[in-house]
Amino acid sequence: MRRALHPCLVNEPFGDPGLFVDFLFEGRALLFDLGDIRALAPRKILRVSDIFVSHCHMDHFMGFDWLLRICLGRERAVRLYGPPGFIAKVEAKLAAYTWNLLHRYGNDFGLEVTELLAPGRVQRARFHVRQGFRREALGEGRIEDGVLLAEPGFRVRCALLDHGTPCLGFALEETQHVNIWKTRLAERGLAVGPWLQGLKRAVLAGQDAAATIPGPSGQPLPVNTLLDCVEVTPGMKLAYVTDVVFSEANAAAIVELARGADTLFIESVFLDTAAARAADKRHLTAGQAGRLARAAGVKAVEPFHFSPIYRGREVELRAELERAFQGA
Ligand SMILES: [Zn+2]
Repeated sequence: MRRALHPCLVNEPFGDPGLFVDFLFEGRALLFDLGDIRALAPRKILRVSDIFVSHCHMDHFMGFDWLLRICLGRERAVRLYGPPGFIAKVEAKLAAYTWNLLHRYGNDFGLEVTELLAPGRVQRARFHVRQGFRREALGEGRIEDGVLLAEPGFRVRCALLDHGTPCLGFALEETQHVNIWKTRLAERGLAVGPWLQGLKRAVLAGQDAAATIPGPSGQPLPVNTLLDCVEVTPGMKLAYVTDVVFSEANAAAIVELARGADTLFIESVFLDTAAARAADKRHLTAGQAGRLARAAGVKAVEPFHFSPIYRGREVELRAELERAFQGA
């Protein structure tokens, strides 16, 4: 069955940045950035398994307390991912509270934190109720292609960007789907069964022309004779980029990260007329965001993180972004 990803900005575009991605029918969600998340109903917050934090400016991280408040006392674990220095920030947040009664909780709530140390290198630590939220080091490791989380149906990649401080951009990529035309199999006298998993795997792996797979009764079947029985549809790709200075290095990394996304969620803080101010604050203008979206060849672009100086002028920010995206 096709996974149904439902992305939604947590707040209106003048509010704190954040993207909530619901996995429909799975009771699970991902969250990008952890600023003011009170607009999310607690039942939605309780669906979140993994939270990707771009950086720890307050408007991206103050929701940590609210998350903790809602999850404490429940038997669950949440994974957090963030930029260099992130584990120490989580530790400092937890250290701000008094935990002398933690042993009275019947349930063990835990946080597993992954910090990107440098491109390709991470370290992990765990904090949980049973250990009084003391830091437990889980060691260092390596990651490939910036992949922070990989599961059978999807993966989340990050890029290390510059905002005057290290800041992560993220891409959520669903794996492609192979749909089987059962009527076409039937026309060939081939029964459905577990062998189709092998066919799906072979198609996804891009097998060579001579490859065979075991058929319904174990007989070898050339994969290339079955291609009219399958349909490959690409998975959805979402990208989330915020709090970045417009620089050559950032632009190249953002374009690579977001390439071909179905939707790029990208900050559009100022108008181009305030480009100097945007550079000074290490943010993008709407025009810069639109040009990046165009360069990345995304299908749609969704702006957020508007500066409060544009209250009442939202249409101008959106129009500038759209013009740049269309190459006008
Ligand atoms: Zn920031």
